Amino acid sequence: MQFDSNPAARTLDAHQRLNEFYGVQAIYGRADPMHELIGTILSHRTTHANEVTAYRTMRERFPTWEQVRDAPLPDLIDAIRTANYPEVKAPYIQNLLAHLFRETGAANIDFLNDLSTEDAMKWLTDLPGIGLKTATLLLLFNFQKPVLPVDTHVHRVTQRLGLIGPKVSAEKAHALLLSYLPPDAGVLFNFHKHFYWHGQRICTWYTPKCPDCVLRDTCDHYQSGGKTALSSTPVRKARTG
Ligand code: SF4
Repeated sequence: MQFDSNPAARTLDAHQRLNEFYGVQAIYGRADPMHELIGTILSHRTTHANEVTAYRTMRERFPTWEQVRDAPLPDLIDAIRTANYPEVKAPYIQNLLAHLFRETGAANIDFLNDLSTEDAMKWLTDLPGIGLKTATLLLLFNFQKPVLPVDTHVHRVTQRLGLIGPKVSAEKAHALLLSYLPPDAGVLFNFHKHFYWHGQRICTWYTPKCPDCVLRDTCDHYQSGGKTALSSTPVRKARTG
């Protein structure tokens, strides 16, 4: 099939198809933005179950954010040890809390609701340890701001489809994909969720289930027989020995 080479049109087409496949969702997120913020730091490179256990243990041992901030570092590392890299994440969390208390007098970020999207993004990404992905997840899920989190699944699927170029990084994909989509939090939430689920369930890392994919007739990776080199999917190293 000959498909539209315009990436904005192709992005909207893929979005519509996944809307039909997965169903349109209302925006949802954790009720407490501080939980979302700290939970997202804990969630890096670990499973959801491990993140949940780490967060729960941390709050049981240190019920207030002041206690988390002031905890001896080894104790906090131990409390979040089910999340990978606890020795990296614990100082991030303490630095972040110290910064929040210094700047705002409390561990409360509800005021982001009243900031413009640009100002809220800048404020968050200026925090120690908060990158584009964490900031966009928080602003979209908790404050319904029109931003687009690009995680490893969204990056891989959009790159395989050819909506972004083969060398475009996840950071650059954020602005690129955003420019193809309407600045509407509901649309962006569904785009993120559906591409995330698609990457988890169908367009998986090593063996995408292309015969089951509703996007295969418009997919560059499928049309090329999986031969395109992509920055989101490094080639698996051959086993030695
Ligand atoms: S056709 Fe295959 S490679 Fe392309 S998006 Fe679908 S599952 Fe991924």
